[in-house]
Amino acid sequence: MLREIEEQIINCRKCPLWQKRRNAVPGEGNPSARVMFIGEAPGYQEDVEGRPFVGAAGKLLTSLIEDILGLRREDVYITNVVKCRPPNNRDPKPDEIEACSPYLDRQISIIMPDIIVCLGRHSAKYILSKAGAKFKSILSIRGKINYISVGQKEIRVIATIHPAAALYRPPWKKFLVEDFGLIKNVLSFGRKRVTLDSFF
Ligand code: URA
Ligand code: SF4
Repeated sequence: MLREIEEQIINCRKCPLWQKRRNAVPGEGNPSARVMFIGEAPGYQEDVEGRPFVGAAGKLLTSLIEDILGLRREDVYITNVVKCRPPNNRDPKPDEIEACSPYLDRQISIIMPDIIVCLGRHSAKYILSKAGAKFKSILSIRGKINYISVGQKEIRVIATIHPAAALYRPPWKKFLVEDFGLIKNVLSFGRKRVTLDSFF
């Protein structure tokens, strides 16, 4: 079923971004992943290869997945809110997000991960709007556990800064390291929702 969505994305012309793409970037990884990473939109290298997070930010993401979570890239699922590259890596426009996000919603409801990790503001804004959450800056909501309901399941959502932001501002790398530590802890704790009752 993920394959069908990928096919549709590759042939999609629902917003103007199809006109300049070399390759659409549907996403990749384990269809039964416990962790799903959601970025903003493909950049230059992603557009060339048709794969998510394969440029400099992707190298950083991959090393965080391997070194902190102790997982391989193939164990998780990685995708973006918008599947075609915006020209010159500009921010995706609201109507592009609106046109493209149904693909992401379908990917989420097939994969049904335990944790969604939002990489950056655009991803966090889109996903957390499902829980009615609004925020001013990514720094004010990063590193916390939120919940969204998908079907019968409550999925944990952890937002963090975009890896590209940490490359641009090296002191911010500590936020990524901290937030991946939280993801690791949640993964080790198990699938149960943590409530105060769990401790008594
Ligand atoms: N930045 C993103 O948000 N997504 C990618 O796939 C690559 C860089
Ligand atoms: Fe279709 Fe999304 Fe690409 Fe727009 S960005 S053409 S909606 S796949």
